[in-house]
Amino acid sequence: MSKSQPRVGIVSLGCPKALVDSERILTQLRAEGYAISDSYAGADVVIVNTCGFLDSARTESLEAIGEALNKNGKVIVTGCLGATPELIRGEHPNVLAITGPQQYETVVDAVHNVVPPKHDPFMDLVPPAGLKLTPRHYAYLKISEGCNNRCTFCIIPSLRGDLASRPARDVLIEAENLVKSGVRELLVISQDTSAYGVDIKYAESKYQGRMVKAKFLDLARELGQLGAWTRLHYVYPYPHVDDVIPLMAEGLVLPYLDIPFQHASPKILKAMKRPGNQEKVLERIKKWRNICPDLTIRSTFIVGFPGETEDDFNYMLDWLEEAELDRVGCFKYEPVDGARANDLGLEQVDEDEKHDRWDRFMETQRAISEQRMQRKVGRTLDVLIDEADKSQAIGRSSADAPEIDGQVFVGNLGRKRLKAGDMVKVKITRAEDYDLWGDLVG
Ligand code: SF4
Repeated sequence: MSKSQPRVGIVSLGCPKALVDSERILTQLRAEGYAISDSYAGADVVIVNTCGFLDSARTESLEAIGEALNKNGKVIVTGCLGATPELIRGEHPNVLAITGPQQYETVVDAVHNVVPPKHDPFMDLVPPAGLKLTPRHYAYLKISEGCNNRCTFCIIPSLRGDLASRPARDVLIEAENLVKSGVRELLVISQDTSAYGVDIKYAESKYQGRMVKAKFLDLARELGQLGAWTRLHYVYPYPHVDDVIPLMAEGLVLPYLDIPFQHASPKILKAMKRPGNQEKVLERIKKWRNICPDLTIRSTFIVGFPGETEDDFNYMLDWLEEAELDRVGCFKYEPVDGARANDLGLEQVDEDEKHDRWDRFMETQRAISEQRMQRKVGRTLDVLIDEADKSQAIGRSSADAPEIDGQVFVGNLGRKRLKAGDMVKVKITRAEDYDLWGDLVG
């Protein structure tokens, strides 16, 4: 790294979508000749990419801004919390600039103002896949920004705007470059993956000499042919989701669906204004599993939404028992400032009651997850290695997304030296609620 190169530090908070924003900002800055600093002291300016979804995330973001100001002094704030600049200025009047989510160009302009770029064509080597904050063997692939839904507990559309899909060609070229640079797993993300392309009327664009529609199924099929795992996140159960299940059965796309159901009681789902709120979801899940028995379904739920009665809650528990989802997270409802759910005139659920329901929910799901995990003992699974030493490797199967799901602990390595990104076969010998243990067999 040349000493004269201006150096930028970044603190990236929040969800994978925010991480992709940070990667884009860094890629642009690197292309302009900036170096990336991994310490506050070594940076000429620090970008804090914030999350503003829940009150707890806002507090964490404000603390991170404070820390960057203390340790460096020159701070630019971007991301979801940037949509409420008065909140940031109220606590930290000395930040140099504030921009909202996805305002890559404005962030880069703000960096130029603090420390201008020094262009050096021999230094500006940016890999075609861009710069990644994830390990080299997996990468998040953002297919759209924003969201057309208006779930009453969520303020994301007011922070990130309506759905704006990327042309299929752009997504596929990015994915292809990632695979060429060593990525073995593509994690498709957006706010609403199954709505991909609605805003651009499923426009076709030319990729590899053929026209590809900006449509959920078409994109999934193309991604599946790139030679890496394709994992679909944030899918809503619209009817056309049924069409992707055969691709999973064929092995083209990972048999994994991340569907944030959030509740099961029809009354609460209506109050939440959830997209894809279909009757007969349970029947569809059964059908999906008939077509693709290896399908893993991950989901998240909210307990204590305003107006949730004991009956609604019990309905959700019964639904869980019947749905037998594999991986489930649960949040206690938080009345986020600006969310319409607070103004629906529904009674708030008492905090102790929320806590009690959360415990009962987790206990019910823990037993279901454990039972489903036990079925894997004795099977041989494909495992993508995340880290390894001489005696043990840790990886993930098709059922495990990085960071949020379980892991597979691989022993019996013999003389084989594994490394991150290796794809191996593992015979499963033991299972717990989230993780698996097994022996390397090839
Ligand atoms: S689908 Fe609902 S919860 Fe998800 S981002 Fe859109 S409005 Fe928010």
